[in-house]
Amino acid sequence: MKFEVTILGSSSATPVFNRNPSAQLLNCNEKFYLIDCGEGTQQQLTKYNFKAARIDYIFISHLHGDHYFGLIGLLSSLHLNGRIKPMQIFAPKPLLEILEIQFKYSDTKLRYQLDFFPIEANESQQIFENGDLIVKTIILNHRIPTTGFSFEQKQRQRKLIKEKTDEIPMAYYTALKKGIDVELPNGEILKSEDYTTPAEPPRSYAYCSDTMFDERYFATIKDCDTLYHEATFMHDLLDRANETHHTTALQAGEIAKIIGAKKLLIGHFSSRYKTLQMLLEEAQSVFENTELAIEGRTFQL
Ligand SMILES: [Zn+2]
Ligand SMILES: [Zn+2]
Repeated sequence: MKFEVTILGSSSATPVFNRNPSAQLLNCNEKFYLIDCGEGTQQQLTKYNFKAARIDYIFISHLHGDHYFGLIGLLSSLHLNGRIKPMQIFAPKPLLEILEIQFKYSDTKLRYQLDFFPIEANESQQIFENGDLIVKTIILNHRIPTTGFSFEQKQRQRKLIKEKTDEIPMAYYTALKKGIDVELPNGEILKSEDYTTPAEPPRSYAYCSDTMFDERYFATIKDCDTLYHEATFMHDLLDRANETHHTTALQAGEIAKIIGAKKLLIGHFSSRYKTLQMLLEEAQSVFENTELAIEGRTFQL
């Protein structure tokens, strides 16, 4: 099953040096989840050959403009392009008011249904579930209420061993895949473990932007497979990071180490950094398996 994320934007605050503000596209089993939607996200989707129409779920972390100023444009374009299937948005409550006022004064009546799910940023909770995924909020520490998102794959079914199951009626497949042994009419028992192999373990992706270092959210992201964490500044600007409620690259590495992540992606880079190698090296000095969330790159989760 596909479980991968493509970086559409990883700049903090303003678009600079060809870096766009925050946005990521998660593909889980060919369903598309947009995480944050900074200005220019539509253009980025086009640039990297994704169809915005395929996005059915949008998650917005907080209401600083670099995380949602692209949303009204995206929603309007979907309307103009004839979308009729509903769109689900998970975001801080005031965003609905912001969207409605823009639709009101542009006299836009969406052709499709906007299902808005307000997020409470006071305790971690499950906000979404379908056949593939569960999504939980991560309570971050930023200047305004901010939540990250933990995307956790569900345990999948065992896989049939094709050569062995060819002679068995298909009616028994479902039970065998669930790990249930089957009794044939003649009394013969088909053991699930003889006809199937275990499913791959479920994987998880935690998205943390924006926040300062704060141990209170570590439990929510513990042992995640891939952690995306903001790393706005180098550690020599720790005072600035604390003041603005952001994290340094060194701290991002420390967090990945403390929570037992397998891989770290860093992003939300300050516009003061024209090149990013120094940020990468700083994070890698404490957590080696770190990569830069460079736009256009797709990471297998
Ligand atoms: Zn930001
Ligand atoms: Zn912010």
